[in-house]
Amino acid sequence: MAKAPEIPLQLVEEIRSKALSAPRPRSLTPGQRDALFEKIESLLKQKNAVLITHYYVDEQLQILTDATGGYVGDSLGMADFGNRHPATMLVVVGVRFMGESAKILNPEKRVVMPDLVADCSLDLSCPIDSFSAFCDQHPDRTVVVYANTSAEVKARSDWVVTSSNAVDIVAYLHGRGEKIIFAPDRHLGNYVQKKTGADIINWQGFCVVHDEFKASELRRLMQEHPDAQVIAHPESPAEVLAMADAIGSTTQLINAAKASKAETLIVATDFGLFHKMHQAAPDKKLLAVPTGGDSAACVSCAHCPWMAINSLDNLAAVLEDSQGHEITIEESVRRNAMVPIERMLEFSRSQGKV
Ligand code: SF4
Repeated sequence: MAKAPEIPLQLVEEIRSKALSAPRPRSLTPGQRDALFEKIESLLKQKNAVLITHYYVDEQLQILTDATGGYVGDSLGMADFGNRHPATMLVVVGVRFMGESAKILNPEKRVVMPDLVADCSLDLSCPIDSFSAFCDQHPDRTVVVYANTSAEVKARSDWVVTSSNAVDIVAYLHGRGEKIIFAPDRHLGNYVQKKTGADIINWQGFCVVHDEFKASELRRLMQEHPDAQVIAHPESPAEVLAMADAIGSTTQLINAAKASKAETLIVATDFGLFHKMHQAAPDKKLLAVPTGGDSAACVSCAHCPWMAINSLDNLAAVLEDSQGHEITIEESVRRNAMVPIERMLEFSRSQGKV
């Protein structure tokens, strides 16, 4: 499979430094947490707002979202839910590209986020100018981008995919004889190419969480737990995926945990997913794949630093005063970005996947 040029070292360093300096929420006493739950619940009603929350954020936010009739799930489900729900304000608890996707699909609604600083290293590793210039050099190729990209990159693409439908969509395009540029995640692109045999040029972006999972450490953990099964997200390195019993999106991993006969599961994804996985498979012991090796430092340590910015405090604050927290997208960009997202949603709906 052909590769796009490596991400410039300076950009890699910038991304690592942003990840390391992401703000951390304070820890709460049970009393403070209960008071914030009550306040947020009442503000959601007042503002006709609903929470749309990703699996990787703090479990208290997931519990609150479930309790208030919102949605907890992966980026595909989040986009679909926001599109169908009648609330006039969507509060996206995740990272910025998720808020942008909600706004692209729902221009008439207000879309707010607890903190717009919540970035994503995949989005950051695919700047629109260099990506667009690269696409211009390959006008014969269909441009397929992962949901973890900016509105501008989506607007430059033909298709948007998520980890739950990337293989199906690329297989469909390959079946039509199309050659592909896949961006931005190098590991997901590699996995999709292997599964479909498609002709892909793969952008070299990375997720700071999944990229850090180490095959050597996983091997050691598997020796300690010989009866365990390994389940992995396809943003993980190929050597980790090669050892996995099941590979899939966050929702697919929850289903795999439920279906597994093993008592212990070794999980290669952000440990924020453990909350829903425990609910779905309460009898299972869940272990995270080690990240940096025994002596090395890790940037994420299996938890996304930008997902971790979301807290009950900043959620309550944005509901009280959303100034400076609202997602806005230039209308021509929004319209162009909507086309490949709707294409993806239609494809997934036609397959009964959302
Ligand atoms: S876990 Fe990785 S892919 Fe997901 S938001 Fe964080 S940096 Fe982006």
